[in-house]
Amino acid sequence: MGKILGIDLGTTNSVAAIVEAGNPRVIENQEGARITPSVVAISKNGERLVGILAKRQAITNPQNTIFSIKRLIGRRFTDSEVEKAKKILPYEIRESQNGGVEVKMGDRWYRPEEISAMILQKIKMDVENKLGEKITEVVITVPAYFDDSQRSATKAAGEIAGLNVKRILPEPTAAALAYGLDKNVNQKILVYDFGGGTFDVSILEIGDNVIETKGIGGDTLLGGDDFDQRIIHYIIEEYNKQEGIDLSKDPLALQRLKEAAEKAKQELSTLLETEINLPFISAEGGNPKHLYLKLTRSQLENLTRDLVDKSIEIVDKTLKEVNLSPNDIDEIILVGGQTRMPLIQQKIREYFNKEPRKDINPDEVVAIGAAIQAGILQGDVREILLLDVTPLTLAIETLGGIAHPMIPKNTPIPYSKTEVFTTAEDNQTAVEIHVVQGERPMARDNKTLARFILDGIPPAPRGIPQIEVVFDIDVNGILTVTAKDKATNKTQSVKIESSTNLSKEDIEKLKREAEIYAEEDTKRRKLAETKNQAENLIYQARKILTDYRDKINEEIKVDIENKIRELEEAKNSDNIELIETKIKELTNSLSKIGQQFYNQNPDQNI
Ligand code: AMP
Repeated sequence: MGKILGIDLGTTNSVAAIVEAGNPRVIENQEGARITPSVVAISKNGERLVGILAKRQAITNPQNTIFSIKRLIGRRFTDSEVEKAKKILPYEIRESQNGGVEVKMGDRWYRPEEISAMILQKIKMDVENKLGEKITEVVITVPAYFDDSQRSATKAAGEIAGLNVKRILPEPTAAALAYGLDKNVNQKILVYDFGGGTFDVSILEIGDNVIETKGIGGDTLLGGDDFDQRIIHYIIEEYNKQEGIDLSKDPLALQRLKEAAEKAKQELSTLLETEINLPFISAEGGNPKHLYLKLTRSQLENLTRDLVDKSIEIVDKTLKEVNLSPNDIDEIILVGGQTRMPLIQQKIREYFNKEPRKDINPDEVVAIGAAIQAGILQGDVREILLLDVTPLTLAIETLGGIAHPMIPKNTPIPYSKTEVFTTAEDNQTAVEIHVVQGERPMARDNKTLARFILDGIPPAPRGIPQIEVVFDIDVNGILTVTAKDKATNKTQSVKIESSTNLSKEDIEKLKREAEIYAEEDTKRRKLAETKNQAENLIYQARKILTDYRDKINEEIKVDIENKIRELEEAKNSDNIELIETKIKELTNSLSKIGQQFYNQNPDQNI
C-alpha cells in the first residue's frame, strides 16, 4: 500500500505532510517551499499557474487569478458568505445551473471543486516527484464549521484530482493530534487559528480515545490579509504626503506594495524595526521615484491592535457560549501564520494567564495532524477515535409542520438514527420526507436540506403503514437520509451534498433566533401538537361511530356528533385552551360508550 498523504487545503496556503517511520514531516513543493499558496491563475499568455507563480501575478491579472476558493466551495450562490466573498474577490462569480457557484478564469467558468482540484493536483505531483512514489490516498482537513455540502465538495475536489479521500478531518482536531494532546484525557483545548483570510476558534475536549468539538466561533472576514492592508494604506498615505503621488491607482505598484507589506509584517514578528524599500515604484516627469520607509513593530501594533482585540473578543464569546471560562482551558494551540505576531501571543497570554503552545510551526500544524491521521489509517500510528459534532439539530417535518429531531445538535459523528413514522391520512400512498436543520420547533423556521417523496405505499388506514426513516451521518459529516416502506421494502434516499449551506454566521444566527423565539415557538409547537391530538381523536371518534353504528344508543351518538363538530370548529382556531377543553369533552362523551357497553355486559367471572 502506498503512503497516505495529509493535506491542509487552506484558504490562503496549503501544506502537505506524511508520516515516515512513525514521524510526520512536511514535504516541500517543487519550488522548494513548505507552503503552497492556494492560488490558481490563467496567465496573460494562457498558461495555467498554481501556487506561488499564480500568487505573484495576482494584482496585475486580478480577473484571471483565483484565490480564496475555499470561501466558495460547496456553497449555494444565495449564501450570505458568497455575498460577502463577492465584495472582496476581484474575479467574476456567477450562479451555476444547480444553484451553486462558478468562477471565471481565462475564457471558462469553473466550479470551486475544479479550482481546488488544481491545487491538490499540484500538491500531489510535487510530493510524487519528491518522494519518487505514487500518491493515491489522502486525508484532507476542513474547518470545523464546514457543513455536509462543503465537506462533500472538498472530497469531490480530491476525487477530481485523482485522489481517494480517505478522511475529511476538522482542522482543530488535526492541530490537537499534531501536539499529541489526544492522550491527555479530560483536557480542554482551545485552538486559536489566525490564517490569511479567516479567523477561527474551536474548543475541544479530550475523552478516552476521543477528541470532541465542544464549540466553534470565528470571523470569516478577519485574517492576516487585513494586517497587510493596514500596512499598505499606511504606506500609500505616507508616500502621498512625501511625494504627492497616489499609488492606490497603479496595479503594478499595488502588487509590489502587497508583497512588501506582508514581508514587513512577517519580519516585524522577529525584528523591532524594518525597512520597506521599493525602488522605481513610480515616475514623475520622466524621472523614476523610489519608496523608502521605516516601519517599527510598535507602529504595526498601533495600526492593527483593533484586529487583535477583535479576535480575543471572539474567543471570549465562544467560551461563554459553552459555559467555560479562560481558566477552564488546559492548552491553547496556535494555528495559522499570523499567530507568530508577538502582539497576538501577548494578548492570548494576558487573556488566559497561560503560555500558548507554539512549538510546532503554526502554518504546518494542521497538515502534520492530517499526516498523523493518515498514519493512523495506515496503521503506522495507534488508533484514536476522532469526534466531530453536528453543529445544528437535524430533523424531519411531521404532521402539523413540527420539526421532529432525529439528530440533536452537538451529537458526535458518525451517528445513525432510525425511527418509524406513519401516514396522516387514510389511503395515503406517498409521504414527503422534509429534512431540516436548525433549533426551531417548527420545520418552516429551519433550513430545508432536502425534500423527497416516497410513493407506492399500499392504501391503508392512517396510522397503519410503517415508514422507516434513517438519518446517517458518516465520519466526514455527510448526511444520508433514507425512507423505507416496511410493507413493500420500497426505498428512497438522498445524500445531502447540495445542502442549504450553513456558514458559521448562519449557525450562530439560527441559534440566536431559536433563543429569541423560544417562547413563541413553544406555543406554536404546543398548538400544532394539540391540533394533531384533536385530529386523531376526531378520526377515532368517527371510526367508532361507524364501526359500532348499531350498538350505540341514539342520545350518546348525537352527543358525540355534536362534540366532534365543536372540536372541528375549535381545531380551526388557534385557541389552545378551547381545543383542549373540546378534546376533554369529546373524550368524556366517548367514554359514555364504554359505560353503556359495560352496563349491557355485566362483568363475567373468570
Ligand atoms: P495561513 O493561512 O495559516 O497560511 O496564514 C497565512 C497568514 O499568516 C498570512 O497573512 C501571512 O502573512 C501570515 N504570516 C506568516 N508568517 C508570519 C509571521 N512571521 N508574522 C506574522 N504573520 C505571518
